[in-house]
Amino acid sequence: MEGECYINIKTLIYENSEVKEVNVEAYIESGKDEILLKGTDNCEQIIRYSVNAIKNVELKIPKGRICINVNPAISAEGQTSLFLAVTAGILFSGLQTNIFEDRYMIGELLPAGKIKEYRYNDIVLEYGIKRGISKYIMPCGNGTLYDIIHIKTLRELYEKAECRKNPGLSRITEIALSGMHNTFMTGSESCGIEETVRQLPELIKNDDMCILYIKDIHRVDRRKTEILKRYIESGIPEMGDAKLLVFAQAKPCICGEMFELSGKCKCNEMQKRFCMSKLPKSIISGMDIQISVKTNRKQYQETAADIAQRIKRTRQIQEIRYKKTNTKANGMLTRNNIERYCKTDKEAREIYLYYTKKYKLNMTSSGKILRVARTIADISDYEIIKKENIAEALQYRWFDTYRERWDINA
Ligand SMILES: [Zn+2]
Repeated sequence: MEGECYINIKTLIYENSEVKEVNVEAYIESGKDEILLKGTDNCEQIIRYSVNAIKNVELKIPKGRICINVNPAISAEGQTSLFLAVTAGILFSGLQTNIFEDRYMIGELLPAGKIKEYRYNDIVLEYGIKRGISKYIMPCGNGTLYDIIHIKTLRELYEKAECRKNPGLSRITEIALSGMHNTFMTGSESCGIEETVRQLPELIKNDDMCILYIKDIHRVDRRKTEILKRYIESGIPEMGDAKLLVFAQAKPCICGEMFELSGKCKCNEMQKRFCMSKLPKSIISGMDIQISVKTNRKQYQETAADIAQRIKRTRQIQEIRYKKTNTKANGMLTRNNIERYCKTDKEAREIYLYYTKKYKLNMTSSGKILRVARTIADISDYEIIKKENIAEALQYRWFDTYRERWDINA
């Protein structure tokens, strides 16, 4: 099982002569492979339908316990359009994508994996107009009237979601640079960490930041990493006027493929334990972002200039917010300031508290989640941190949320 994800697929459903805004929430946790569906009738049948459709387009069901919750509950009458959202929930429960953020997905899924227009499309769109909903994922529709991602098959949805935001390296580095977050990444040689880090200077327009890249941190002498540890604990180290942003990389196992989905890793338990025990745990704990990077087959469809522009804007938002303080960026927020500046909405607070308790995260660790969530919210220009921002930030506390592996090193 890979990183824990949470996604919310929004849809509009016509049921009992009224349109309902329905959330299909999905997440995956470690456990035996199963799918649990709540909030509708005929759950078994829907799951079977979804699983078949996924298999028919030759996509994979993620491994682990997949939990799907339909909220508010929908009766059998509204189910024709629920199949698509539930199937997407199953498919994306193990993937990280933001294609569903702020967008309503409307359509009917056919068993062969094709998606056709929802039979009540006009009615739900009329409702959408009244509510100011204009962003959709749909098989058809007028693209000048609405902002639509067109999808005609399940596979197309999968591919668009994957390249929409593969929060592989480009997303992680964008967050790191936008909010000044020290970052630890582990991954195979081919996953592109080094190339990405080498290109980072292109993305920084402010000259108040330099990148310190530490390759193979597991090989660095422990005494030397002590110095680094002290730097990182004190926040973002400085060099002259510039802040030194640390990116560290390590291989997770001897072949480096341990967390790849390909199953190529041939290291035995002993070898894996050995490599894990070489990771400087105290440094990694001190990093705001810690993540296992998988090889991205699809790259970001954006140019460096687009990303650089967004980073610049996100930095400006922070500059304005922290004008009267010593803080320059979210990554520099002190514990006292975190409470003050990282305001969450009710739902975000709930999942934050749920997961910090579940993983028994200490103050430092949970503070880092809020700092990173603050940056993610800033990138989307949200003043208050939302649930999906917390959910994404949680994915970047990889080692904290994977204690069974981490404890090897305790
Ligand atoms: Zn290996």
